[in-house]
Amino acid sequence: MIEINQISQYVKEQIRVHIGICYKKDALDCFDQASLIFVPFNDIESLTSPCIAIPNDIKNQSEPNDITRLNINDTNYTFYNKIERPSNSWEEICIDGVAVWYRNNIGVIMPAWNHFHNIVDLFSFRAERDTKLRDKHQRLNFKDNPFLIAGLGEVPVFNEFINILLACLSGKKSGIGFFPDISEWVRPLKIVLSHDCDVLLGNDKYSQIGRVWRGIIGILKGNFYNLTFPLWMLYNFFNPRKFYMNNVYAMIDMERQFGFTSILYILNGVGGRYGFRNNLSAVKELLENIPENWEIGLHYNYDTLLDDVSFLRQKNELQAIIGQEVFLGRAHYLKFDPLKSYYQLETHGIRFDESLGMPHINGFKVGMAGVFYPFLNQDKKVSSVLTLPLQFWDSHLNSEAKIANFEKSIEHLSKIGGVVSVLFHPGKFYNIEDPKMDGVYYRVLKTLQRVQAKSVSPNYLIQQASYLSGK
Ligand SMILES: [Zn+2]
Repeated sequence: MIEINQISQYVKEQIRVHIGICYKKDALDCFDQASLIFVPFNDIESLTSPCIAIPNDIKNQSEPNDITRLNINDTNYTFYNKIERPSNSWEEICIDGVAVWYRNNIGVIMPAWNHFHNIVDLFSFRAERDTKLRDKHQRLNFKDNPFLIAGLGEVPVFNEFINILLACLSGKKSGIGFFPDISEWVRPLKIVLSHDCDVLLGNDKYSQIGRVWRGIIGILKGNFYNLTFPLWMLYNFFNPRKFYMNNVYAMIDMERQFGFTSILYILNGVGGRYGFRNNLSAVKELLENIPENWEIGLHYNYDTLLDDVSFLRQKNELQAIIGQEVFLGRAHYLKFDPLKSYYQLETHGIRFDESLGMPHINGFKVGMAGVFYPFLNQDKKVSSVLTLPLQFWDSHLNSEAKIANFEKSIEHLSKIGGVVSVLFHPGKFYNIEDPKMDGVYYRVLKTLQRVQAKSVSPNYLIQQASYLSGK
């Protein structure tokens, strides 16, 4: 019983953090004043006054069921894991004949979908807990993650639920039904742009060997463009910063013109996959030229996963260069174990992490574009590491169809509110070896500008989330 109350409190806090950051004060006030309770399903029938009652004891199966998409006020919402109506005496509140809420004659309203455990499963990494399978980078493959296999990673189900909940609270307060348009309440989309600085100089031996390799593979695949590799090997031999470090400065300039800022996640240390890609003098040179308001974070090296010695060595090395504490980070290769890594990050002073992304696709690994504190199920405790899942990155913006998908997601999120994370590697911004990426970052920023997105710093998010969750 204590445990379910504790988890209910946790879920309520994550919802409050999201509303406070993504919606205006009126929405937060409405949420705070609402009679919203989390109760066991069997207790709902015995409630004696009007309220919104969210059942908190219905466990989901590991595979999502009854996935349903509905259009409300011109916006799509995805629901899954249906809850049966308690009895025939409850009225169904429907969209297109599908129940979204149930209401009884006392005025108790409950959701027709198991949002509570959907959130708990996602924010406590149910998929990782249910299987020990991992890929060669020690990550759970999307093929072994039922949530992603069902296609749910393509939609921000958490953001959509909060929007539906707020519409219900607003409608209840003003007596205008369950699905009023609450777009007035939504704040402009918040964005966190970032660059994983894996390679800063194009003459490192792994980049050069990679070119030869791509040239050979290119011939086998009938792609002869890569055969130009000897030219670029030679070019980067004499101009190592071109296509890499120089791109960081170019991206910063472009961001400044749009009124945005970004985070540079620095790969240093000794044991990256394929060794250490950047020499330390290149890192120092870059960091000397980074303007104020652009943040520095740690790109946890390949060998640091659950290895405190190499993690600390890398972190201390970076801190020694910049002369201040580093508290932001993202794992190289997204090599990250959500069941264990948060303990390591907490121990070593990381307070903001962006490692929860999907290597195979752009989208929403834990159903959200926003920040939350992960629930560490093993110890039934809430992690202090504020987490912004990575949603969009360059590798999945390399075709018109994928860019169109990105634009659609941003449009959608700007209507329902969210915090978006976008990653662009320096070597992808402008690189003669990858011409289809030319201009893509500009288009990304243009799309964000069109929806009036605002750049925010991790510090801002940390402060807001800590204040809103009462920490
Ligand atoms: Zn990386």
